[in-house]
Amino acid sequence: LTTAEQDVLEQIESKGVDFLRLQFTDILGTVKNVSVPARQAEKAFTEGIYFDGSSIEGFVRIQESDMRLKPDPETFAVLPWRDKEDSAAARMICDVIDTSTGEPFEGDPRYVLKQALDRANEMGYTVNAAPEPEFFLFEEDEDGHATTETNDHGGYFDLAPKDLAQDVRRDIIYGLEDMGFEVEASHHEVAQGQHEINFEYDDALTTADNVGTFRTVVRAIAAQHGYHATFMPKPIPKVNGSGMHTHISLFTEDGENAFHDEDDEFNLSDEAHAFTAGLLEHAPAITAVANPTVNSYKRLVPGYEAPVYVAWSDRNRSSLIRKPAARVPAASRVELRSPDPSCNPYLAIATMIHAGLDGIENDLDCPDPVRENIYDFDEQKREEYGIETLPSNLSAAVDALEEDEVVYDALGEHIAEKFVEAKRQEFEEYLIDVSDWELERYLEKY
Ligand code: GLN
Ligand code: MG
Ligand code: MG
Ligand code: MG
Repeated sequence: LTTAEQDVLEQIESKGVDFLRLQFTDILGTVKNVSVPARQAEKAFTEGIYFDGSSIEGFVRIQESDMRLKPDPETFAVLPWRDKEDSAAARMICDVIDTSTGEPFEGDPRYVLKQALDRANEMGYTVNAAPEPEFFLFEEDEDGHATTETNDHGGYFDLAPKDLAQDVRRDIIYGLEDMGFEVEASHHEVAQGQHEINFEYDDALTTADNVGTFRTVVRAIAAQHGYHATFMPKPIPKVNGSGMHTHISLFTEDGENAFHDEDDEFNLSDEAHAFTAGLLEHAPAITAVANPTVNSYKRLVPGYEAPVYVAWSDRNRSSLIRKPAARVPAASRVELRSPDPSCNPYLAIATMIHAGLDGIENDLDCPDPVRENIYDFDEQKREEYGIETLPSNLSAAVDALEEDEVVYDALGEHIAEKFVEAKRQEFEEYLIDVSDWELERYLEKY
C-alpha cells in the first residue's frame, strides 16, 4: 500500500468508519456509488472492487460489462450527514478500470479529464479551476416531492429575515467544510430562493471531484431541513437561472501563474489571450457539454445575466468570458460564464482545457474585449463586432459538437458517441411533448 492508502486505513480505524462508499460518475454527471464494509478497504486498494458497468448510463454494452473501481485515496472523506457516532460512512472517488485490458476505461469521465490534464502537462502546464455553482431551494409538498415554491423572497445579497435560508446555508457550509472544502463565500442570489456558495480554487481534477460532492452535500443537507435543492438550470421562467461560472488558469511547472502578465493592459499573458481565443473559437461545441439539458437553453437567453453572445470582456457580465479583477498575480484567470450546474464537471472542464490549449497551440488571435452591454446590441451591431451567438437549443449545440473536432475528440470516441446519442434522444422526446405553455396558449383559442 502507498502511504496515502495506509493513511486511509488509519482514518477508517480512528474515525470508526463502518462503510465505504466507492463513487464514480456516469456520462451524464450523476454520481454513482457502491457501498462496501470498511474492512474491505485494503482489498479495494490492492485488487479493486468489481461491478457491472452495463447498467450505468452510457458505460458499456451488456456483453462487456465487468469494470473495476480503483479508489483514489486522496479523495477519502467521512460523510457529514450520516450518524458519525455509531457507524460513520466515508467515501472515496474511484477511477474505473476496464477489466478486459487492465487499462483505464474510456467511458469514465474522470479519465477524460485526466487526459486533458496530461495534454496540459506535456505543454508544461498544470490547470487550476474554480466553479461558482448556483442553486434553488424549494419547498417540498406533503408527499416530500419538490415544488417550485421558493423557500424565501430574498434577493441578491439579502440578509435574514428575507433570506430564510441562512440556517440551511450555514449547515451546508459546515457539511462542506467537514468534507475538506475551503468555502470562500456564500450569498443569496438574484432570484427568490436562489443561492450561491463559492469554494477555493484547486487543481482541475480536485475541482471536478468537488462539484459532484458539492451537489450531493447541498441536496442532502437541504433535505434535512425539509427543502429540495435543485441544480436544474432554469426552474422558473423569467427570473435568473442557475449557472456554474467556471474560472480557469494555467500554472507553469515552477508554480507561476502562466496567465499573468504585469505589463498587459488586462494583466493577461499571451497564453491567457490565446487560451481565451480558443475558448471563443470552440464555444458553440463546448455548450453541448457545459449546457447539456433541454432546460439549459432556457437560461441562455438575454436579460438574466447569462451569456448568449460569444465575446469576452474585462468588465461587463453579458459576455461569455470575463476577466475577473485580480489583486495578486496568482489570481489572474479567465471566467467562462456559460456552464450550468447540470453539466458533467469532468467533461465540461476537459472540453474547456482542450479548447484553450488549442488556442495556445495554434496561436489563435484574441479579439478585443467588448465593454458594452451586448444584450442591447442589434443583429447589425453584433455583425459589425463579429459577435456570434451561442446555440439556442440542445439540438443546435449537439450539431456544433459534432462539427468541432477539437471538442468532440476531447471527450474520446466512446463518450462522444454515447453523449451525442443520449442528447439527440433527449431532444427528440422534448420535441414530441406538449407543454403547459402550448395548452395555455392554444387549448381554448382554437
Ligand atoms: N445566475 C446568473 C447565471 O445564470 C449569474 C448571476 C451572477 O452570478 N452574477 O449565470
Ligand atoms: Mg459569483
Ligand atoms: Mg452568481
Ligand atoms: Mg461569476
